Amino acid sequence: MNVLFSFNVAAKNGIFRFHTKCKETSLTYLCFADDLLLFCHGLLDSILGVVSILEKFYEFSGLRLNALKSELFVCGVPVSLLDQIQSAIGFKIGQLPVRYLRVSLVTRKLTSKDCSALLVKIKNRIDHWSSRKLSFGGRLQLVKSVLSSIFGYWSRQIILPKGVVNDIEKLCMRFFWKSSDTTARGARVSWSQICSLKSEGGLGLRRLVDWSKACCLMLVKNILAGEGSLWIAWIKDYCFKSLDYWNVDRKPHFSWILNKLIKLREEARRLFISVSIWPQIKGGWIWDRICDRRDKVGWHRLIWFPSHIPKFSIIAWMVILDRLPTKDRLARFGIVTVNVCGLCGDNQESRNHLFLECSFARVIWKAILHACGLQLQLLTCWDNAMHWMISNLKGEDFMELVGAHEKALSTIDAAETGTVAEQSIGEGPEGDDATESVYGKFQNGKEKWGL
Ligand SMILES: [Zn+2]
Repeated sequence: MNVLFSFNVAAKNGIFRFHTKCKETSLTYLCFADDLLLFCHGLLDSILGVVSILEKFYEFSGLRLNALKSELFVCGVPVSLLDQIQSAIGFKIGQLPVRYLRVSLVTRKLTSKDCSALLVKIKNRIDHWSSRKLSFGGRLQLVKSVLSSIFGYWSRQIILPKGVVNDIEKLCMRFFWKSSDTTARGARVSWSQICSLKSEGGLGLRRLVDWSKACCLMLVKNILAGEGSLWIAWIKDYCFKSLDYWNVDRKPHFSWILNKLIKLREEARRLFISVSIWPQIKGGWIWDRICDRRDKVGWHRLIWFPSHIPKFSIIAWMVILDRLPTKDRLARFGIVTVNVCGLCGDNQESRNHLFLECSFARVIWKAILHACGLQLQLLTCWDNAMHWMISNLKGEDFMELVGAHEKALSTIDAAETGTVAEQSIGEGPEGDDATESVYGKFQNGKEKWGL
């Protein structure tokens, strides 16, 4: 790194001239991993000055720049001069815009073509997964972890145009509902509801448009906090000059991203007006304040609890929202003509019938609830059923009751086969006392739950 710093010293000593837009910030190089970008004035003398520094580096380190792997990007340099420069240093002449890590480094608004690598990457992932017959739970997990992280990687580096963000969101939506890149017509739940918090009846995804805006506001926060980024130092020297973010106007020669950030000024004012300690402002803080909020729902803990099974939780989520493809709904859309329940054959198949009224389903429920130590209540109204479930089927008390019941039943089985006495010999607290304790818990639970 000390060697790279010698570029700054050389520029200040006149061995080569700074690039016109780099003098105020004394910028001569950028280095990332094993890539190096050097900036200088576009005259032959300056470029030869840079090459002489690289030769010095070679003399004491033995590391020589490979001219065949290096590119020269110029703007506003006459062709005749460019020929001279190229024959002197042997670098390839690169074409603007520069692409680094597959991202176009441009000051204008990015187009869909510029972001094609991102869209292709997401489409390839979807094509790869579409043949795997994934459940809704699996698809949700992939959208949440993989597709969102690809978007997050890009949006942290550049501000994506709204059209591109919408295209990516459409791909995520299609994959979630159809498991492929085909139109999500007939989606059972609106994407905006899916992208709300689980406690608000959604699936906890993020709206990418809001996410993109949060990234923009994070950049505004960095400008206001004056946090040590070269980009911030550069825009203060060459764009804001004597003004600050609150007073500078949008200008045609500013980059598209900078003009977009200035356009967000009123929103930024509302958001940051009371902020005094900038280091406390993180991405999550901004996100919590800009995303749309819905009313809380009382049932989310029924289906989203530690160690839940995503596949079943999403089915339960659709049941509660009444979005299962039951025959009454399919008949309304003209997809089926017979809407009689396939289990009992007596009534129309609807969500309420399937889960509350159907004689066949009630037998199943009775067996399941009995196995959990609960009794089936006579509930024919969905709202009452939800109220009963919210009151009885959640929380640690419920899990403890089910666990105690299960253990009690297994203990009874063991006692009936005469194995308890054998197991309790020499086991201390795991003997009869433990059995009593389990029964005690179970009995207490029954009293507490009014069973
Ligand atoms: Zn039925």
